Amino acid sequence: MMMDMAFFTITSTAARGAARTGTVRTVHGDIETPNFMPVATRGVFHGMELTDAAEAGAEVLMCNTHHLNRSVGADTIAAAGGLHTWMKWDRALATDSGGFQVFSLGWGRVHGIGKHAGGINARPVGTHAIVSAQATIDDQGVIFSDGEQLVRLTPETAISIQEQLGADIIFAFDECTSPLHDEAYNAAALERTHRWAKQCLTARTRADQAMFGIVQGGTFERLREASAQFIGQLPFEGIGIGGSFGQHEMVTTLDWVMPHLPLDKPRHLLGIGWLQDILLAVDRGIDLFDCVEPLRRARHQHVLTPTGYRDVTPVSRGQGDGPLVANCDCVSCRTMSASDIRGWCKARDYRGSRALAIHNVRTMIRFMAEIRSAITTGRWPAFLAERLSELERRHPSVVS
Ligand SMILES: [Zn+2]
Repeated sequence: MMMDMAFFTITSTAARGAARTGTVRTVHGDIETPNFMPVATRGVFHGMELTDAAEAGAEVLMCNTHHLNRSVGADTIAAAGGLHTWMKWDRALATDSGGFQVFSLGWGRVHGIGKHAGGINARPVGTHAIVSAQATIDDQGVIFSDGEQLVRLTPETAISIQEQLGADIIFAFDECTSPLHDEAYNAAALERTHRWAKQCLTARTRADQAMFGIVQGGTFERLREASAQFIGQLPFEGIGIGGSFGQHEMVTTLDWVMPHLPLDKPRHLLGIGWLQDILLAVDRGIDLFDCVEPLRRARHQHVLTPTGYRDVTPVSRGQGDGPLVANCDCVSCRTMSASDIRGWCKARDYRGSRALAIHNVRTMIRFMAEIRSAITTGRWPAFLAERLSELERRHPSVVS
């Protein structure tokens, strides 16, 4: 379905492992991979401007179909000329399918679990308060209840909304299950996701958008392999890998899934954005990432350093009148002192969280550039080992 130019070209591969660099071509510019998409859920960032992301070097942003449609309306955005014009963002954009909200507003709420099963968003299993789901699923799709309003999302409507929005990369509608679901539930959900994947391909009408199918299957090897094979042979332009898992499960899942995926399509690991996870995933052949983490952490006054996220106070104390992080080329570190940024953070001044957001996003973008450079210059295995050991020697003040 994708036009005359090659959507994805692999430009180099690592001598060891499955890391590779490539170029994703869109009408809104090229995306060098591996790369990271900052998340602008409703087409804006909480805590910084879109121009800050452009200045930080972001080549592509991820927006959220369900939230955009619910808060602004796909009709309104289409009438304004589409998402790029409406946002005033002229580089590439991706929209997710709304499928993750099936989990986060549905089973994730009932089970008290976020993206990372054992991560920062999770309450310990068994001690969480049961909250009612805002999303209920059946074979035809999902119904989101938003106050009085019921919103029905099916594979066909998910694609038609994403076509109205007009992002360069769109995702097939899927069901992301909860880690507390058993194999039988996951098998049934996967059957739905696979059926929906074909319906999404049939429903598409635009030739200028790349559609990614999504591999699911929970924490079950048999299901993950079957899903990789099934989604991998469908005529998608790229492959997304979805799920809610801890780091160990993420690596295991990738080890099951990656060998079954076609080599010539870009692979996007949905919702993952910690440095260690990115390194481990790139080594297994992942090309694209998106995550709310750099901006979310900035709002919590956390600074991304080479060894992970740390509270702004100790980091800035160590730096005094110097830049927040030595050798950082972000606008905040080039033009503001660490003590100024700390002062603004303490005073809850917008300038503080914005400075941190700019720094965190720029650090992610630069990290991805370093990864690409390590792969193209044949230094990937050494770079990987070095960065992983640096991250494992966690500084005591790293906020995990
Ligand atoms: Zn910086």
